[in-house]
Amino acid sequence: MSWAVVPGADESAPNPGGAGPILDLADVRKVYATGAAQVEALRGVSLTVDPGEYVAVMGPSGSGKSTLMHILGCLDIPSEGSYRLAGEDVGAMTEAQLADVRNRRIGFVFQQFNLLPSLSAWRNVELPLCYAGVPRQERRARAIQALERVGLADRVDHRPGELSGGQQQRVAVARALVTDPALLLADEPTGNLDSHSTADVLGLFAELHVQGRTIVLITHEHDVAARAGRVVHILDGQVAEDEPAAAVSR
Ligand code: ADP
Repeated sequence: MSWAVVPGADESAPNPGGAGPILDLADVRKVYATGAAQVEALRGVSLTVDPGEYVAVMGPSGSGKSTLMHILGCLDIPSEGSYRLAGEDVGAMTEAQLADVRNRRIGFVFQQFNLLPSLSAWRNVELPLCYAGVPRQERRARAIQALERVGLADRVDHRPGELSGGQQQRVAVARALVTDPALLLADEPTGNLDSHSTADVLGLFAELHVQGRTIVLITHEHDVAARAGRVVHILDGQVAEDEPAAAVSR
């Protein structure tokens, strides 16, 4: 899996080409200040993920999973500690570079699908390409190709309301994949799905993993985590356990 260097990034960085970990968090802390109160959501998290790994992040509500995901997805920055993405120091990136990383290098999948209800499936999927300035004809072709990859070739003109929950999440996965990102971040992607659709979406993730995609998925369900290769347990803002998925007690 190649990882293009972020425009303007330091090409003399130790790992500009993508060898070594794709994600490297070192002693990351995140403090939220709300009025006079401070919440330390992450309290010294160190974590490395190699290219092609499929990692589940588990932990009780309030343990810091979403905060961790926001930092991994460059939606937020650590208060302390460092985060290197494919060898590049995220803390040293400009806002424009961060936006570029979010748009082109990372695909996001959320529990609520986050699709625009008035747009057809392919129009939803082309959105990241619009932001990236890709020409219209190419956008449509790539959006339809992404929908074919998730098994929705016959639903490209359907709106979200005309699709099942599992199909909507497949559209969201197609949207996450349309820019061909090296990293897929998913926050409770099966949280709103019935068991049939959950199996459907997890099957899709397994295929993407086999194809070499790096996947980090937040879940509170053991069955979902068991499909990953590795499970990282977060407790009170710290990594409590980091183990192969097969070792997870059910
Ligand atoms: P999880 O995803 O595991 O439920 P979160 O990362 O959402 O956990 O939250 C971790 C802690 O940080 C919680 O105590 C939460 O209340 C707090 N927190 C999360 N986001 C914010 C925020 N934007 N402002 C203040 N506190 C926050």
